[in-house]
Amino acid sequence: MLQALATVPRHLFFAPAFEAHAYQDKAFPIGEGQTISQPYTVAYQTQLLDLQPTDRVLEVGTGSGYQCAVLLQLTPHVDSIEFNEVLFARTRQLLATLGAGGAGLHCGDGSVGLPDRAPFDAILVTAGAPGLPPALLRQLRVGGRLVIPVGDSQTQRMVRVTREGAEAFVREEFEEFRFVPLLGAGGWRS
Ligand code: SAH
Repeated sequence: MLQALATVPRHLFFAPAFEAHAYQDKAFPIGEGQTISQPYTVAYQTQLLDLQPTDRVLEVGTGSGYQCAVLLQLTPHVDSIEFNEVLFARTRQLLATLGAGGAGLHCGDGSVGLPDRAPFDAILVTAGAPGLPPALLRQLRVGGRLVIPVGDSQTQRMVRVTREGAEAFVREEFEEFRFVPLLGAGGWRS
């Protein structure tokens, strides 16, 4: 997992003017009021997903594409969905340029998941949610994991939900983080 982080050149996901900041362990603005996650956070969430190379993953909140590129190091089966059309268009172009075009990139409200591509072995939400979006739980395969920061607008606790049966979900709680808000029907409606 650390190897996956080391392999992806983070500066490529920054605007040229900010490239010098790319190897600090900090979140950074990527435009449209959004941020590229801190490397620590990317490592933390990726670790909790516990990915196998055959796993099918959904990322909600493509943003800069950095986390998506890290996921692609671990499995070729990655879908990622971004709500913001400007970021979606820019990141699709960037990932193609980097030769990291292997992910299925989608534009829309990922708080309701991606029903056409479900079920998933792992779902990763990279924006803070007010609660567990029911659609994301439904789109987990039995054995699948949802990793999602849940809380108010200030702080969110990292939560992992594992689907152990059709109606059996096990919830674990981890450290606190601060993410930009998850918008949409299963998030902070906007
Ligand atoms: N994983 C990203 C971090 C992006 S920040 C990276 O590595 O850079 C969170 C992103 O979630 C923002 O780009 C924001 O636009 C997006 N987002 C917020 N609500 C969303 C929703 N309902 N569906 C999809 N994307 C959403």
